[in-house]
Amino acid sequence: MAGMLYLVPTPIGNLGDISTRCRETLEQADFIAAEDTRVSLKLLNHLGIKKSLVSYFEHNKTAKGDVIVQRILAGETCALVSDAGSPAISDPGEELVKQCAEAGITVCAIPGPCAVITALSISGQSTGRFCFEGFLSTAKKSRKEHLESLIGESRTMVFYEAPHKLVNTLEDMAAVFGADRPISLCRELTKLHEEVVRTTLGEAIEKYTETPPKGEFVLVLAGAPAIEKEKATPADAAARVAQLMEEGLSRKDAIKQTAKELDLPKNVVYDAALSE
Ligand code: SAM
Repeated sequence: MAGMLYLVPTPIGNLGDISTRCRETLEQADFIAAEDTRVSLKLLNHLGIKKSLVSYFEHNKTAKGDVIVQRILAGETCALVSDAGSPAISDPGEELVKQCAEAGITVCAIPGPCAVITALSISGQSTGRFCFEGFLSTAKKSRKEHLESLIGESRTMVFYEAPHKLVNTLEDMAAVFGADRPISLCRELTKLHEEVVRTTLGEAIEKYTETPPKGEFVLVLAGAPAIEKEKATPADAAARVAQLMEEGLSRKDAIKQTAKELDLPKNVVYDAALSE
């Protein structure tokens, strides 16, 4: 019988965030696939778990993915971990999940620490609808194209960013979205120096140009404000009713349709049509 692939999230700072289920899965797996075996070894030592580790990272993922799939098909259970947070989210794992799914292997994702969700929930921005944009490219042209593709985006946008690129990124964002756009900069989440700066792009540029940023960041950017539709006037309503009646609609139907089209109350359209 084939084994399984478990996606095991690990703490993004605070080691206390490892769950009982994650710990048990790591203990019970036949082997652990890790982004950086040295990083994961530290965690396993902290948890008192001894287990065989194989490396699975960006530059060996295709070849290693095949080996892992074969081992699982032969009956072994693999737990996949990344350096921190949820595997497969801006981390190696996406390909392995695809390969396993294609091979008919059951994949089980254990919920747990994830920087995007932790930042979004603490950001103070709207959380009802959001999009995760991951890391921006380091190439100027594709960064610009990526940001420009988000110009009309009304959902809250979440980005991962490295501290040494932060000011550049904020400047590129301000050029596209305007310096007044609200942003929450979530730094060192779950760690000793956790900090959330809720500000605007312009103010953030000033702050981090003065004091260079340190630590890991998630940027939570407010979506574009809704554009107020220009309200139709009673004169517009009267003109539209007259036009529809000329086209053959009864006065009652013309008023009904105009009210719907112009998003006006029926009585306003009725009064406007009568006073013409
Ligand atoms: N898969 C991981 C997850 O979803 O939590 C993210 C891995 S990605 C390679 C690393 C990025 O996540 C960092 O550059 C940073 O943007 C963000 N990040 C990770 N841990 C963080 C923390 N404690 N505080 C703020 N951002 C963090």
